[in-house]
Amino acid sequence: MKANENVRTFERGFYLTANGAGVKSKRGIGILPMIHGLEAHATKIDNRVLNRNFSEQKKMKIETLAVHAGHDIDPATGAVSAPIHLSTTFERDIEGTYSRGFMYTRNNNPNRQALEQGIAALEGGAGAAAFASGSGATMAIFQALAPGDHILAHVDAYYGTSRLLRDIFLRWGLEADSIDMSDLSAVKKAVRPKTKLAWVETPSNPLLKIVDLAAVAKVVQAAGALCVCDNTWAPVLQRPFDLGADLILHSTTKYFGGHCDVLGGIVVTKTNNEFFQRVRDIQYSGGAVPSPFDCWLILRGMRTLPWRMRAHAENAAKVANFLAQHRQVKLVHYPGLSSHPGHDIAAKQMSMFGGMLSFEAKGGRDAAIAVTVKTKIFTRATSLGGVESLIEHRASIEGPGTTSPEGLLRLSIGLENADDLIEDLDQALTL
Ligand code: PLP
Repeated sequence: MKANENVRTFERGFYLTANGAGVKSKRGIGILPMIHGLEAHATKIDNRVLNRNFSEQKKMKIETLAVHAGHDIDPATGAVSAPIHLSTTFERDIEGTYSRGFMYTRNNNPNRQALEQGIAALEGGAGAAAFASGSGATMAIFQALAPGDHILAHVDAYYGTSRLLRDIFLRWGLEADSIDMSDLSAVKKAVRPKTKLAWVETPSNPLLKIVDLAAVAKVVQAAGALCVCDNTWAPVLQRPFDLGADLILHSTTKYFGGHCDVLGGIVVTKTNNEFFQRVRDIQYSGGAVPSPFDCWLILRGMRTLPWRMRAHAENAAKVANFLAQHRQVKLVHYPGLSSHPGHDIAAKQMSMFGGMLSFEAKGGRDAAIAVTVKTKIFTRATSLGGVESLIEHRASIEGPGTTSPEGLLRLSIGLENADDLIEDLDQALTL
């Protein structure tokens, strides 16, 4: 067996014993390093893992999965919190194989594998490939396409995603149309025989438009295209694979990390198919991979993700309701408001409406910027998904070509008390 095959076999959930025979992992989520040449020891570890009965993961509630998926007790020391494996290279067996499953950290690393298995389990997917940023993960999906392939992208997708398509991938021969996917008839009209991928982002950034994911997936899959959902804004609250998506993208910089201190991205696949294998090859060969410490931080963030998402969404709903009644506010974009055009679809496909919202100040750009100057708890900063609340004038961050209204402010609602956030916005909005 060639070394590379060895690594990949491991990745599919097989653990190679010292004599090279494959043993399927009973737990299926997490790492079970084999101790070279000591099969008795390996059996002992296997039994201990079995006691935790993780083959039952499908029945687990999401909070339980979030705490345990990707986490094993370290077999060498018993450490409950996984060690960080900084080694870039791993010992080869006498026969030339890598029976412990790792060869070189660009190809795979215990912390990255734990992260990939953990997030794949949380999303209910067959596998995942982690990258150094959300944009790095997005790049890998586009790179897995071939020149001449056509992409349909949501017009209100993250501006960095639209910029990648416009500035990099059009020159590489990909074709792309940017359409309002909240209008299903526009999707039906835009699908072409060469359409290979639809890029859905819901809720979208920064207008919180809602796309009917199940309906779009059906239309594009009938035309032979894959449906990708950028689920960065609604992890846990929205289950794209249940709604028909083929791939999920997360910027794990946001809610997974949860504390504005780590950059990352991940592609999760529903099935182990050829397209995902291409994404995996791009990850291995291209090497835009996260560091072991970054993987560790993101997986730690995942442990509290369901509870944080609940609190972010509860706070955001209170802030949105307050802003919707404020005399200085022209319009609030939050799918939890019954006045939002996508409210009914959001209620169907999300368990809560998320922690992000935007609003338009009466008085346009100047009035909006004046608000950002006066907030005391909200920090003027880009990004989202951390414990602290952030406020951002989106048009000036996006720059030339922005489609954000000049009076629009985007809020990432954190985990402070909602009453304090409301008081802060109230005083900032007061003329
Ligand atoms: N997708 C969405 C919805 C985002 O909001 C972002 C970043 O803001 C990205 C992707 C890109 O992620 P990263 O900044 O980690 O590259």
